[in-house]
Amino acid sequence: MPTQNPEPRTQNPAVKTQNPVVKIIGGGLAGSEAAWQAARRGVRVRLYEMKPQKFSPAHQSPFLGELVCSNSLRADSRESAVGLLKEEMRRLDSLIMAAALATRVPAGKALAVDRGEFAAHITRVLEAEPRIEIIREEVEAPDPEATTIIATGPLTSEPLAEALGGLTGQQHLHFYDAIAPIVAAESIDLGKAFRASRYGAGDDDLNCPFSEAEYATFFEALTSAEQVPLKAFEAPRYFEGCLPVEIMAARGFRTLLFGPMKPVGLVDPKTGRQPFAVVQLRAENREGTLYNLVGFQTKLKYGAQERVFRLIPGLEQAEFVRLGSIHRNTFIHSPSILSAYLNFLNYPQVFLAGQISGVEGYVESAAMGLLAGINAARQILAQPLIIPPRETAMGALIAHLTNTTTKDFQPMNVNFGLFLPLEGRIPKKLRGAAYAERALKALEGWMKPGEDS
Ligand SMILES: Cc1cc2nc3c(=O)[nH]c(=O)nc-3n(C[C@H](O)[C@H](O)[C@H](O)COP(=O)(O)OP(=O)(O)OC[C@H]3O[C@@H](n4cnc5c(N)ncnc54)[C@H](O)[C@@H]3O)c2cc1C
Repeated sequence: MPTQNPEPRTQNPAVKTQNPVVKIIGGGLAGSEAAWQAARRGVRVRLYEMKPQKFSPAHQSPFLGELVCSNSLRADSRESAVGLLKEEMRRLDSLIMAAALATRVPAGKALAVDRGEFAAHITRVLEAEPRIEIIREEVEAPDPEATTIIATGPLTSEPLAEALGGLTGQQHLHFYDAIAPIVAAESIDLGKAFRASRYGAGDDDLNCPFSEAEYATFFEALTSAEQVPLKAFEAPRYFEGCLPVEIMAARGFRTLLFGPMKPVGLVDPKTGRQPFAVVQLRAENREGTLYNLVGFQTKLKYGAQERVFRLIPGLEQAEFVRLGSIHRNTFIHSPSILSAYLNFLNYPQVFLAGQISGVEGYVESAAMGLLAGINAARQILAQPLIIPPRETAMGALIAHLTNTTTKDFQPMNVNFGLFLPLEGRIPKKLRGAAYAERALKALEGWMKPGEDS
């Protein structure tokens, strides 16, 4: 079974264990999928879920696999990145995908489900699986000596988050994401944006230069745009270092000029002068296909973000592969901590799955559960651990989690910007199909259904 990950990190792939049970903490999307995948490989599973004894601020039902907000698993076409991820999961016998198919409701091009039926389906299947024991109990600390998957999600209970901080080092555990928008490199107007680093030091960023008049228009739009209302459990506890850009702007007309829009040390080669203000775009990945807007974490509504950020010179036609947000979200800095097998570099018997591993979204969380479940089972069975091919959507997410070149790691939805670029020039409207064809072919050569079970 070949693995084609670009950079397997140093890692002992097969750790023999004394205790032939996979412990899974958290019965959400990732934990449920992981339990299913491990059990169907013949391994016993103990799945710990704290509900209904204790609920996070967003969970309400006692069922496993609860969707906490929207009932949509997003686009269904495999020509979209998330549609392709779903197709890969279907081919690997995903429980979450089977539940979605069984409880689907009409939603145009999206895959949406009846949320109650969906979670009930998952719960029923896992309860009926003889190899899975479901224990309704909060786990306060993982045992780093037992094969364990931590899948406790963005609202991990406090004692466990504290214990996790002990394993990872507190500096690698985050309680809020502070997400700046990301644009596709090919959609940036290089006639306007120029490449330079401040004072000519370090790697070159792309810089979008503003005249004073352009800045005034942008400032007005930014400070009057609509913001997302906060959830009750999201009382703003912003760190000064990652304030939403609109909050910073509201402090005064010139505040951003001393923060993320500082022009000092940058000369626009087209004018030979320092611009009035600058937005810096920084490469998000080694391939240079994605750029993030440095310091532009934001709570603006998505529609407002696209409208306001397209006022940035050079981004008029930008394709936003991720929009900004700030949420309560427990996640770890996976590039420092995790191997591409989803286990800790320092504690190889502890795996992470789901949103806490640094992905974003229901489907992405379940996909990481699927991979962690396979690898935890393989560890118990003393089989080599596996990494999905880099061409697949799952491989693209693993590449994100282990991307040591990113300066500001934040959770991310799957998107084609995370994939290896396609060879040759392919018209935009055919690219989704080309990514899908390449991914599914690579997946076929990687793991035939049932091959490792
Ligand atoms: C408010 C909110 C809204 C969101 N809306 C969306 C959306 O609309 N669409 C989308 O794609 N994504 C959304 N997300 C992001 C994310 O995809 C989901 O949170 C997703 O459910 C994550 O899956 P998971 O399995 O990692 O965690 P979860 O599904 O949250 O599962 C974690 C489970 O672990 C349990 N648990 C926690 N701590 C412990 C413990 N110590 N011991 C035992 N059990 C424990 C919890 O009770 C829970 O059942 C949202 C997130 C939040 C917080």
